[in-house]
Amino acid sequence: MSLPQCVRDLLGDAVLRRVLAAVDAEGADTRVVGGAVRNALLGVPVKDIDCATTAHPRDVMRLARAAGLKAVPTGIEHGTVTVVADGRPFEITTLRRDVETDGRHAEVAFGTDFGEDAQRRDFTINALYLDKSGRIHDFTGGLADIEARRVRFIGDATTRIREDFLRILRFFRFSAEYGAAVLDADGFAACIRERAGLFRLSRERVRAELLRILVARRAAAVVTALSDAGLLSMMTGGVAELGRFARVCGQSEDATLRLLALSVSVAEDADRLRERLRLSNDEHERLSKAAALIAHLHGRPEALDTRTLRRLVVLHGVAAVADALAIVDGEPRPRVEEAARALLASFAKGEEAVPRFPLTGKHVAAAGVPPGPRMGQVLERAKALWLAADCPADKPQLAALLRLAVGEVSGEGGGCADGAPVEILR
Ligand code: ATP
Ligand code: MG
Repeated sequence: MSLPQCVRDLLGDAVLRRVLAAVDAEGADTRVVGGAVRNALLGVPVKDIDCATTAHPRDVMRLARAAGLKAVPTGIEHGTVTVVADGRPFEITTLRRDVETDGRHAEVAFGTDFGEDAQRRDFTINALYLDKSGRIHDFTGGLADIEARRVRFIGDATTRIREDFLRILRFFRFSAEYGAAVLDADGFAACIRERAGLFRLSRERVRAELLRILVARRAAAVVTALSDAGLLSMMTGGVAELGRFARVCGQSEDATLRLLALSVSVAEDADRLRERLRLSNDEHERLSKAAALIAHLHGRPEALDTRTLRRLVVLHGVAAVADALAIVDGEPRPRVEEAARALLASFAKGEEAVPRFPLTGKHVAAAGVPPGPRMGQVLERAKALWLAADCPADKPQLAALLRLAVGEVSGEGGGCADGAPVEILR
């Protein structure tokens, strides 16, 4: 087979060649394997480069150092040494075969047989070896599966899943990232049958894989499959908003926003996801803030105008409003007037500053209100009036608002600046 340009580029990588030459200086055979070969063949960017070698890990360390490269024994008990060249890490793993597996951890023995090493990898597309001469070694039919964009387990899918339940999620992730329209039927059926194994995985692993699925090329289709198969609710513990998720996938590649679209409608959803997926405090806060707004916006019959939008942005921040609108806008009809959408965009880009309520206790005191609880009440009322009046910066208008607020709180009545009912969104 003639090598695609991307594979030639991979082998033309001078730093990689230096690493291979160093490890193979005494006759070992070191080959690129896994994601790098797969991605090069698929014509998608290669991230990090993993290699498999016949050299013993001890020798990998020694030979790399002898060539002036840094060698770190990152996982030396399972044969992995990270060689750093030109600031880039290369994971070099000695050929292995599994001796025993327990659903997550494998006991391994070092070997010298690439065919045997291939058998313990997960999918055929992940078990292609590229040697220094540019030959690709395929022991499992991976090249044909690359061609067909088929993510297929090596060997019997059920057996392979029982060895390591993380493979269930890797099956969906690689299918979403690289697969064709249809999931491999055997693999899919085995994942469904073995789904209880998901509960044996750490939440951090589930989180990492799920978030990668959510941002993958075919996220919408694969997440629908996960949901239909009952696996998604095992991970999120809630219902899935698949239509909303598909719509947001067309608009944004932000993983947290996609998670929001898929799984959050009310604040409790954000709390549950924090537990289930070990979300960070920042992620949880982002989901919670958006959830409160989503619930509020769902109850509004009319589309948002610029005044309401400005008020929401002042009270909740640009990011939370943008998140919530990404979720509800278009569901099932537009929820935002064109002008309001443009205003949000200029806030987000920083072209327009978010208004800040300009009055303070000093102004209230100058209006004759003595220090005490009434001062806070006046300020709160003045802020509501200011928001209802579309956040004016004009001094006479502010003075009028303040007078009105003082009058109202002192029981002298009076309505809103513009006669509209005033309510403060919390
Ligand atoms: P990416 O880095 O994009 O996630 P990758 O294929 O490089 O893709 P890694 O997790 O970096 O994936 O693993 C490197 C290789 O190690 C895989 O291509 C596969 O051959 C093997 N591998 C990784 N995890 C497993 C696993 N759980 N079971 C079997 N083989 C695995
Ligand atoms: Mg990798």
